[in-house]
Amino acid sequence: MNLLKYRAAQVVSAANFAPKRDKRKLRRVLMYHSVVNDTDLAIQKSDIYSISETYFKCHVDYLARNHNSTEHKVVSLEDSFSSGVSITFDDGYKDTLTIAAQLLCKNNLPFNVFVTPANVISGQEKYLSETELVALSQLPGATIGAHGFSHQHLTSLTTAEINEELKSSKEWLETLTQTTVTTMSYPHGAFNSQVQEIAASVGYLYAATSSWGCYQVGVKPLEIPRIDIWNLDSGAALKQKLNGQWDWIGKLLSPVQETDK
Ligand SMILES: [Zn+2]
Repeated sequence: MNLLKYRAAQVVSAANFAPKRDKRKLRRVLMYHSVVNDTDLAIQKSDIYSISETYFKCHVDYLARNHNSTEHKVVSLEDSFSSGVSITFDDGYKDTLTIAAQLLCKNNLPFNVFVTPANVISGQEKYLSETELVALSQLPGATIGAHGFSHQHLTSLTTAEINEELKSSKEWLETLTQTTVTTMSYPHGAFNSQVQEIAASVGYLYAATSSWGCYQVGVKPLEIPRIDIWNLDSGAALKQKLNGQWDWIGKLLSPVQETDK
């Protein structure tokens, strides 16, 4: 989505009165990827999934301020609390530790990080190293989950390959962090009933998708919808997204977004 389209969507969303729902019975799970330093404007402007530290700080401030309300209480994805907000990060970027986690920990807000082991093993500067991943896993409120072993579209693999991706990523993360891994998110948002069955069989209890929606009563824990967060989302946009005002475009874009990351 380019700037012009985003601005148009913003105008519509700001004026959009979301349908009244019982917010005590639904959870909104936020999907973040990278949080970049403000000096890195080029990345921030070109990559929809790289939000600036300034905007992210606005989000954390807003969530921390409303943390005591039933509607916006921040809980870990696997928490049994039936409403509130969950904060998730995909892929295992280094800035999840160096920028995002610092702000979240300072405000005592829990969060989930879905890591692709192959990204860590790659040694690329933008991803967490093994040492950094261990440090992240030991922070209060942090829960590490898997994101496939090598970030493949699970729906295009054979049964044996899906099993290998899901099982090896879980085992690799468990060995490194010395914790039991029961959460994951589907790379590229790609999943189907077979992928879900295999995920359950290897021991995952919760899996986040990239489909836009609320995690409410009746939604399967291996099919948890999320709310996509983009680089141009200010604190005001987050508030609108939590209020359901962006649901119209999120649902429209969901299938496209699935193939992006
Ligand atoms: Zn991903």
